[in-house]
Amino acid sequence: MAGLACALALAKAGCRSLVCERAPSLQPVGAGLQLSANALSVLDQLGLKAALAERGFSASSVALRDGASDRLLALVPVESGQDGYIAVHRADLQSVLLDAAMADPSVEVRLGLSFQRVESQANGLSVWFLGADGSQTTVETSLLIGADGVHSPVAAFAGCKPPVDSRLVAHRFSIADAPGPEIEAWLAPSSHAVSYPMRKSGERNLVVVEPVGVPHGAPDSRDWNPRLSDFLTRGDYLGAWPLLTVDADDRLRSRERIVLIGDAAHAMFPFAAQGAAMALEDAWVLASCLATKATIQEGLAAYAATRLPRIQRVLKRVSFHRRVYHLGWPLSLARNLAMRVRPEAAMRADLSWLYDWRAEPIAPPL
Ligand SMILES: Cc1cc2nc3c(=O)[nH]c(=O)nc-3n(C[C@H](O)[C@H](O)[C@H](O)COP(=O)(O)OP(=O)(O)OC[C@H]3O[C@@H](n4cnc5c(N)ncnc54)[C@H](O)[C@@H]3O)c2cc1C
Repeated sequence: MAGLACALALAKAGCRSLVCERAPSLQPVGAGLQLSANALSVLDQLGLKAALAERGFSASSVALRDGASDRLLALVPVESGQDGYIAVHRADLQSVLLDAAMADPSVEVRLGLSFQRVESQANGLSVWFLGADGSQTTVETSLLIGADGVHSPVAAFAGCKPPVDSRLVAHRFSIADAPGPEIEAWLAPSSHAVSYPMRKSGERNLVVVEPVGVPHGAPDSRDWNPRLSDFLTRGDYLGAWPLLTVDADDRLRSRERIVLIGDAAHAMFPFAAQGAAMALEDAWVLASCLATKATIQEGLAAYAATRLPRIQRVLKRVSFHRRVYHLGWPLSLARNLAMRVRPEAAMRADLSWLYDWRAEPIAPPL
């Protein structure tokens, strides 16, 4: 996602790029994504928002509920001005980005090329890739953008510390024939669950975040309410995603000709549904910085200076959600009461800095 979005944003800045993907073919992976207005503004600038909106579901609020009783605790407004909030299958976002990249003459996508190593040359870099058939490919480039996810081999090559395992795991389920536009989150001690629509066919996404060792987010693994237990019973289990984090301060710092974006730079817990959103923002900001600064080095320094404070703030918010969502009794009682009396406008105001960010048009090519 980060790589394709960045290539498309760079095309707007007048730069050509080559996207090298390790997978020999692009398969629909994962399940659902929620995209807030800040993320949608990047897709809007790329001319892709309408295509995505056609496939996804619009929401105006997220319902927070008590995991045991299903009681509504709060409706958190998530729209931002004219801009909405969309729940979508991540394969649909991937295919919208991929189709646009394939149609853009400034972008080349090559599959089955796995990054191996990089060497500095007088005026740029030589980057080595291993092909799916075992062959080696070398690419000469002026900049290497590591958009290669939480286990980023580019970050490892650049000497970044490895990801840290949180001992939390996200169990993902797809529930057929569960229509309805609601986005809901159920809070429980040390765990929570989130459900939202993914496809017009009625397919619904369910994610249960629990400590490692709890089997498959099983219906009886917590004191879940009957509606959520029913979802768990009839959902198709898609697998467990261990939740890992990385040292964003280290990974976002400016380097000479290597830069990290998306999960490679700042993998985060999905507790504010902002991982992909931040990947899209990174892609746009990086292209803007490269378009407006005189040298690549200045562009990378501007990218690091712009993104670090925002990512730090998002990470702080994510930690806050983790603490609040997973409270045990009796603190959960106080939380539930506080949520029920807090005005919706105040909840929305808490998130303005996050959702009201907008991608500015990229300056014409230098
Ligand atoms: C349970 C869960 C729910 C989530 N929900 C949301 C949500 O609602 N909203 C949201 O915004 N975010 C959400 N996220 C986060 C979001 O999924 C990630 O932040 C996002 O996928 C990161 O995109 P990326 O492009 O940076 O990395 P990835 O999607 O991981 O892509 C990295 C790519 O690099 C490729 N690659 C890896 N190694 C190499 C190599 N050596 N050579 C070449 N290619 C390579 C991989 O094959 C992959 O295609 C969620 C995450 C989880 C776990």
